[in-house]
Amino acid sequence: MGNFQTIFDARVGQGKNAGAIFSPLILSFGLLNFLLALPLLFFIGCQGSPQCPINGQRAFKHVEKLVSFGPHPSGSKAIGDVQTYIRNHLIRSGLQVMEKDFLASTPIGSIPMKNIIGILEGKRSQIIMLATHYDTKRFSEFKFVGANDGCSGTGLLLELAAALAAEQKKLDCSLWFVFFDGEEAILQWSSDDSLYGSRHLVKELKEQGILSLVRSVILLDMVGDQDLTICREAYSTKWLQDLIWSVASQMNYQQYFRECSQQVMDDHWPLLQEGISAVDIIDFQYGGSEPPGIYWHTAQDTLDKVSAESLQVVGEVVYKSIFQVQKALFGEMN
Ligand SMILES: [Zn+2]
Repeated sequence: MGNFQTIFDARVGQGKNAGAIFSPLILSFGLLNFLLALPLLFFIGCQGSPQCPINGQRAFKHVEKLVSFGPHPSGSKAIGDVQTYIRNHLIRSGLQVMEKDFLASTPIGSIPMKNIIGILEGKRSQIIMLATHYDTKRFSEFKFVGANDGCSGTGLLLELAAALAAEQKKLDCSLWFVFFDGEEAILQWSSDDSLYGSRHLVKELKEQGILSLVRSVILLDMVGDQDLTICREAYSTKWLQDLIWSVASQMNYQQYFRECSQQVMDDHWPLLQEGISAVDIIDFQYGGSEPPGIYWHTAQDTLDKVSAESLQVVGEVVYKSIFQVQKALFGEMN
């Protein structure tokens, strides 16, 4: 992602008090009430429960594997291994896979790139897109593996694809799991040197006359930071962002999904430009409390900064939000 500007608003502290509401309630519960409340606990976050559809440890294992392929900027040999890994996991999870190859014109010449799309068909042809980028930024001065920036979103999206494939019968609209190549600038971030994959997909779907089927986009980027702080990304569509923040709040995850605000240029931008509702879920305070954070685009973006717990939190919120977005777009399923 590129240029940013941060405005922390006055509501940052609000979420911290929310936990206090629960204490007197829990104290007054007898055993029976507690047992009756168990399904409710699922919605407050289900970490560790066998019924939990999302497994942060499994997502973390994907991140570990993706990091083990080494730096994988667009056009590199290593990115081929990452593409094979993504494709194989999607097929194993029961998704249809589309691979979209294209030649990107960059400041250092043409680079072959590939968007990968895993598809779960629902009852309707309209599409909710879940997206991330899987390329890592190209650096010659140091080894950049992008454990958080590139690998965390990819690992979590692979886990979400498997979890939602198991619930395909509940899908009203179709889900596309989109893995973008070429999010990172090849040299220096600009409107021409960045977002190659998302710009290309928008162009392609527009040419095919099917872009209007895409009704909402949820983008994941840098979601594995063990010190998870997700501000509201300010370009994102308000209703969609409100819906997700409200789900997070119901799950008692306000300490992670915060009320601070920042603008981040990312793969949701080309879709927003076409009038499509899109939200970027991004922790852009990677190390410390100032954006972009001291680990961002440095040799320090390594596996030890990423946690299964953070992937679990974001995964649960996104999983539950999908069904809420469906409801907001099309009403209750019949
Ligand atoms: Zn980056």
